[in-house]
Amino acid sequence: MKIICIGRNYAKHAAELNNPVPEEPVVFMKPDTAILLKKHPFFIPEHSNEVHHEIELVVKINRLGKHIESRFAHKYYDEVGLGIDFTARDVQADCKKKGLPWEKAKAFDGSAAVSRFFKIKELNQPITNIPFHLDINGKTVQSGNTKNMLFPVDKLIAHVSKYFTLKTGDLLFTGTPAGVGQVYKNDLLELYLEDKRIFYFNVK
Ligand code: ZN
Repeated sequence: MKIICIGRNYAKHAAELNNPVPEEPVVFMKPDTAILLKKHPFFIPEHSNEVHHEIELVVKINRLGKHIESRFAHKYYDEVGLGIDFTARDVQADCKKKGLPWEKAKAFDGSAAVSRFFKIKELNQPITNIPFHLDINGKTVQSGNTKNMLFPVDKLIAHVSKYFTLKTGDLLFTGTPAGVGQVYKNDLLELYLEDKRIFYFNVK
């Protein structure tokens, strides 16, 4: 199982980190060891002093596919959930400055917190109009809607499947809306899909 992630897929988030709006999806990956185990807290890793939360819609791939056209991409998933793409922003800034890859900042153990998954047809909205938000200690810090993606889910699947064969169970993190910020010990993170709290955990 692999985790494919998209960066800068919401214009306001690209702007808040002083990144240009990309002309094609920004792609990176996390290994399966990045998955935060269920019922476990997120531990801030020792190699960072500035870990940020990035709430993202996560799409679960349900068929094998390569070179998928975007008009057929909807046949390759039927469930979505929410995740946090934890990012060691200080480490990432250093990698970016030196032109190095991002794995130390993005792919460390526990850096992919993932909720349970929901059938899209059981949601109130289609995949192109799903609202979601993240509360920390009871206050909303990030809220987004898939309608504001620069590259919608089907386009992302078409793009990434040009490079990587998609397999059943693979996860696609689809990018974060604006409002990223640091997490601190004892924070409580609560993730809401269409106003329903579907996942929560603490930071340690
Ligand atoms: Zn992200």
